[in-house]
Amino acid sequence: MSGTVLVVDDLLPNIKLLEAKLNADYYMVLTAKSGREALSVLETNQVDIILLDVMMPEMDGFETCRAIKTNPKFANIPVIMVTALSEVEDRVMGLKSGADDFLTKPINDVILMARIKSLLRLKAIIDEIKVRSESLSQFGIDSQIMHLDLNVLTNAKIILIDDDLAQGNLIQKYLTENGAIVDLQKDPGVVIEQIKSFLPDVIIINSQLLNTDSLRLCSQMRSQKEFRNIPILLLVDEDEINILVKGLDIGVNDYIMTPLDQTELLTRINTQVKKKRYQDDLVNQLKNNANLVVKDALTGVFNRRYLDIYGKKIIEQCTSTQTTLVIGVIDIDHFKKVNDTYGHLAGDEVIKKIASLLVENLRVTDLVVRFGGEEFVIILANISMEDANSVAERVRNSVETTTVISPSDGKIINVTASFGLTKVQQGDYLELALDRADQALYKAKESGRNRVIVL
Ligand code: GH3
Ligand code: MG
Ligand code: MG
Repeated sequence: MSGTVLVVDDLLPNIKLLEAKLNADYYMVLTAKSGREALSVLETNQVDIILLDVMMPEMDGFETCRAIKTNPKFANIPVIMVTALSEVEDRVMGLKSGADDFLTKPINDVILMARIKSLLRLKAIIDEIKVRSESLSQFGIDSQIMHLDLNVLTNAKIILIDDDLAQGNLIQKYLTENGAIVDLQKDPGVVIEQIKSFLPDVIIINSQLLNTDSLRLCSQMRSQKEFRNIPILLLVDEDEINILVKGLDIGVNDYIMTPLDQTELLTRINTQVKKKRYQDDLVNQLKNNANLVVKDALTGVFNRRYLDIYGKKIIEQCTSTQTTLVIGVIDIDHFKKVNDTYGHLAGDEVIKKIASLLVENLRVTDLVVRFGGEEFVIILANISMEDANSVAERVRNSVETTTVISPSDGKIINVTASFGLTKVQQGDYLELALDRADQALYKAKESGRNRVIVL
């Protein structure tokens, strides 16, 4: 995930240090040496996240943060306050002025990147909701963007897996005081089953459970469908940064350092719950907008007309923000034979099945479109070609291994599909990118079908 980071600090050496770290991780960096300069940079640039020093002459970090967060144009941009070590009041003040998180100096690289990634994911979802509702409004459909209360912890459902009772009870106390419903579990064994009925918004796991490999547990959860959209936070001892690095690697969303800091705990959980709620909202919005104008009647995925509008917008947005976008075209192999052998109704069932496999395997922020007949288009944002390729490979494999029962005679139908992928480049427009994806698809067909080709 890449993005543009605005670094605000009155001291040049601090700016240079952060700039170097961020550049090394392929973030674009803009800088400002005062709160006022920061506001003018925001006016003229697309910024995804702000790192804001607290101690600045004239307008300090708190005041700057308030100015950002009360301006509707910028309010959605996450702000991370950079404070001196152990200034608890600074953190509380920062959050009161609207900051989304904080970092303490000296800044640890792993922690910096974890903070940025976590907030960028939240922003990506909010941006996506905006693009989609703008696209829908062009069809005259008014999709409501959800307005979140500042404290989303009220009634947030949290599963906490911790066999350290003193710590577990303390976390439970902090969270329930803020209105959350916490299910504290000492035995991770029961949790996986439990989750299906409790439907948590967030899962918190102690990284050092006595009888369980916590990271293995996280990775097991990540690989299951039920957990795909549930954020997992790891409780990590401040001397165990290595565990955090591994955790983030296997898809843990964020961490909380121990010994525990109440403000940090509440902030992190708040961000994750917010992200989860927005994400759920996006899913519901899509479900409720099962609208004939933009949806394909057979499969329930978006139709070509929607792609025309949404695709243009998302490509514009991606070229202006330099996020990566991958477009794919998918076509069922030898589909005519399915119709000829099992009948048109059976063919329809196959098309429906492929659509649902695509939806199941992609993220909620990705787009699935039935482009025509037995052809689909997908748009994946914020993803490397390598990852897009493995997503496509995963879908290809599930198409190959899934069977459809013919409705008329109960016969088992097996199909495969071919995939063409391409990355959207500077200066691309929808037709051009689709054309390239189509050429890749053609190659996939030509070289034997049932494969993914990237062009
Ligand atoms: P290839 O592997 O080269 O893609 O071969 P194919 O047979 O899949 O390709 P072709 O594009 O020639 O055939 C697609 C067929 O899909 C033709 C059409 O009758 C059928 N088709 C298109 N839309 C629908 C639909 O909504 N329902 C059903 N059952 N069939 C459809
Ligand atoms: Mg075709
Ligand atoms: Mg085909």
